[in-house]
Amino acid sequence: MGALTLATGARAGGVGSVETLVVVGAGPKALAVAAKARVLRELDLPAPRVVVVEANAVGNNWLPTGGWTDGQHRLGTSPEKDVGFPYRSTWARGRNRDINEAMTAYSWTSFLIEQGTYAEWIDRGRPSPQHHVWAKYLQWVARATDLELIHATVRSIAATADGWRVSAVDGDGNATEIAADGLMITGPGHSEKALAKHPRVLSIAEFWDLAGRRALPVASRVAVVGGGETAGSALDELVRHGMLSISVITPRATIYTRGESFFENSLFSDPIKWSALSIEERREVIRRTDRGVFSVRVQESLIADNRVHHLQGRVVRVADQGDCVALTMRNDLRADQVHTVDLVIDATGGRPLWFLELFDANAVDLIELAVGGELTQARIESAIGYDLAVSGLDGKLFLPNLAALTQGPGFPNLSCLGNLSDRVLQTTAARSTTANRHVSGLRVH
Ligand SMILES: Cc1cc2nc3c(=O)[nH]c(=O)nc-3n(C[C@H](O)[C@H](O)[C@H](O)COP(=O)(O)OP(=O)(O)OC[C@H]3O[C@@H](n4cnc5c(N)ncnc54)[C@H](O)[C@@H]3O)c2cc1C
Repeated sequence: MGALTLATGARAGGVGSVETLVVVGAGPKALAVAAKARVLRELDLPAPRVVVVEANAVGNNWLPTGGWTDGQHRLGTSPEKDVGFPYRSTWARGRNRDINEAMTAYSWTSFLIEQGTYAEWIDRGRPSPQHHVWAKYLQWVARATDLELIHATVRSIAATADGWRVSAVDGDGNATEIAADGLMITGPGHSEKALAKHPRVLSIAEFWDLAGRRALPVASRVAVVGGGETAGSALDELVRHGMLSISVITPRATIYTRGESFFENSLFSDPIKWSALSIEERREVIRRTDRGVFSVRVQESLIADNRVHHLQGRVVRVADQGDCVALTMRNDLRADQVHTVDLVIDATGGRPLWFLELFDANAVDLIELAVGGELTQARIESAIGYDLAVSGLDGKLFLPNLAALTQGPGFPNLSCLGNLSDRVLQTTAARSTTANRHVSGLRVH
């Protein structure tokens, strides 16, 4: 075990004083918040010090090392949905135009201009970049914003009298403790867990590792369990291999394509309309456009391939059957069905509550008190407030990945990172001005 370093930020004192916001994970959300905080400071507006703790590289989950992709597959959404998108800040009346303009310094197109590839990208019809290029963009933002980055894995989080204490360990075993007034959790957690421990059942991390080394087990019948982005990228890879049949297993009646019309996209880019919808309407939008849906591009490549079939059901049992694996699928209105394959890929995606294992017992008690009971996904989701933090906690705990239902479907993904950073960084004074403007139905400029 190495040395223990105590990294402290300037503590929150009074109105306008600097706070420390610690972000777990250097993905798009961390970069969006760090870039906006820098812009606010440059404009002499109050912003916290943003400290990002990252276990690997900036943009790790878009690289083969992150275990979610091999880096070669393409972004489903447009890269112009970058760290500043939609460039319609509502941070504070009177300064929003300046904020929007300053944020364009960290846009996808500014990145391309600096790389000298802007004209080529336009001439090629604005293609979605491969995941590893998206990671390069995020790394460029990190450099351009002088990101305060701690290379370490967060191991535990404790609640303190005025916030949080984040304990992390770097690759050499050195421990660091960071005092935080506010804490933001990002990312989907780990990808190493599979439905069952079996050599022919691969987690998504194992799948990408083997695919990257061209060492996937020989198989003629493959099943991919899951119907979201994780499964979409895995299928995009599998159709390039010589399998005879590829079954996609999801609980829903069919595989849906993500709605990409203006009407659907606008709910993601502009969360203002969200609060006017009933909870049932919100759930319906999320169901139809986000959870368990494939991007248009992935769907097109699957439709064209007659080896790909959809099976409806929830996998409830995985059994060894000689060299094969028997999957039992459950449907509410039918008897269980068994489907036998040579290889299974668990692409069910991230665990939304993965971060809870980092919090110590006292911190869990505090969060339970704030949300009114045991920490279930539904309970935490319904406690996420306008600022994307859990309501009722003294130390801010921002959970944008769980903010879809209460605040807008774009907050967990790349659809409105500019709105996300506004909400996380808004001071109380700026927030009340903005809230009043929203109540009266005006847009802030
Ligand atoms: C294959 C795939 C494709 C996707 N494509 C799209 C898309 O096209 N459009 C879209 O909108 N969404 C897409 N998504 C969803 C995507 O995950 C989110 O939109 C978004 O990237 C999440 O960003 P983030 O900042 O929350 O976290 P991430 O980019 O996931 O970053 C989280 C970071 O946290 C780090 N980390 C994890 N644990 C720790 C720890 N204990 N200590 C320190 N660091 C830690 C990881 O190393 C990682 O770098 C895709 C998801 C997948 C899996």
